[in-house]
Amino acid sequence: MDKLKPCPFCGEEDDIHSYTDEVICGSCGCHVGSMHKTKEINAEIWNTRSQAEIDAYKQDLERTIAEKVEMQAEIDKLKSDIEIMIQKAASKHRPAYDEQQKRIMNMQAEIDELKCELTILLKLSTVNMTDDHVKRVNRLL
Ligand SMILES: [Zn+2]
Repeated sequence: MDKLKPCPFCGEEDDIHSYTDEVICGSCGCHVGSMHKTKEINAEIWNTRSQAEIDAYKQDLERTIAEKVEMQAEIDKLKSDIEIMIQKAASKHRPAYDEQQKRIMNMQAEIDELKCELTILLKLSTVNMTDDHVKRVNRLL
């Protein structure tokens, strides 16, 4: 097997390894080769790349990186839009929420008061009841 040439991208000379499925640069991670070939064939592919292939690969990489940067910017923008929407929604619905909470508390107070009155009324009305009736009334309380 021919000695592997230095990495065309980072210049690494020693940390380059040939496997059955590819040749990979341990320094920058770039790789060439095809699955199900031999180490020798992949080494040859690594060593015989034309400058045009290397440039095309570099362009591909740069395009991919640019796309990722663009996507990240889009994601950041969406995240910030969502954050703003959440804050707007929260401040818009806050007064209505507070109002509902107040109504619930008032209703609960009314219910407690009514329960209290009902307890007194039922206690008063059980004076002439049979034990069975008293039990049934108590179950309501
Ligand atoms: Zn490299």
